[in-house]
Amino acid sequence: MKNGKVKHVLVAGGAGFLGSHLCDALLAEGMHVVCVDNLCTGRRSSLRHLERDARFSFIEADVIDALPGRGLPRHIDMIFNLACAASPVHYQADPEHTMLTNVMGTCNLLRLAEAHGARFLLSSTSEIYGDPEIHPQTESYWGNVNSTGPRACYDEGKRAAEALTFDFQRGGRAEVRVARIFNTYGPRMRADDGRVVSNAITQALDGSDITIYGDGSQTRSFCYADDLVDGLMRLMAYDGAQPGAVNLGNPIELTVFDLVERVLALTGSRSAIVHQALPVDDPRRRRPDISRAEALLGWSPRTSLATGLKATIAWFSASDGAELNPTTVAAAAD
Ligand code: UDP
Repeated sequence: MKNGKVKHVLVAGGAGFLGSHLCDALLAEGMHVVCVDNLCTGRRSSLRHLERDARFSFIEADVIDALPGRGLPRHIDMIFNLACAASPVHYQADPEHTMLTNVMGTCNLLRLAEAHGARFLLSSTSEIYGDPEIHPQTESYWGNVNSTGPRACYDEGKRAAEALTFDFQRGGRAEVRVARIFNTYGPRMRADDGRVVSNAITQALDGSDITIYGDGSQTRSFCYADDLVDGLMRLMAYDGAQPGAVNLGNPIELTVFDLVERVLALTGSRSAIVHQALPVDDPRRRRPDISRAEALLGWSPRTSLATGLKATIAWFSASDGAELNPTTVAAAAD
């Protein structure tokens, strides 16, 4: 709420895992929030605690379609586009929809930003680097993506979304920010997300076998949701010259095997580990170079893996992860 003027923010994909945390953070800053979500992978239960907040509203709509005028504020100051299934299992279930969400959906939201003079932030992804040949990944790296493989609907969709977003900037049609988000975890992940963090925790908690795809030597870098949301807010608020795409993620890299060992230790689970086939085009290594975010936004992740995993385990063990307020669960984990 700068200069005493209330800001109106649209969050597309606001019922999703990261989107719902972002809605919380924006409201906590005194902003008014309209969430647009098709509830494909997002859940109303992630927003239930906001239903009585007069500054919050929800529109069930698919960003692929023309956005309904009804329910939108007269003036929108900022648009965050987080609309797209992000887990390989979910985004590959309907690849055409995934591609169109990124291309048509981003275009519709950019046009809305143009009409309102709103600043637009695209949540892009580390997947635009594909199976990277340079390590860690800097924003100047153009990537190594298989454009015909099963991940392409998401990877190439996001690459097209980035191109479109920067074309709006170049054409003077909207002021834009692009965040390249690396693996993120935390409360409100879906138990059926299919991600390594959600799978390992749910499997460890119910004593079933932990699935490691391949030998587990592939690496990822895992960022806690609250840290990531802080990065998104800082990037949207950044008033300097166009920064280009900005990596947001945790630079601490570990193997999938190490992650599973940590989950087993923290849960005290005696689950066995089973190995399954590595998915097609699964990246071997991934770690963000976050120098740009550090220099421009003064941002770096604060939450240790142990703290973040404990909060996430507490979330999943308290219920199916659907109905709880993560703040309460995190406090209970300490
Ligand atoms: N993975 C795994 N077991 C699982 C789910 C995923 O070993 O039950 C692996 C997956 O093959 C990948 C890594 O964990 O190498 C991270 O996968 P995730 O789906 O969490 O994110 P991605 O980085 O692929 O988007």
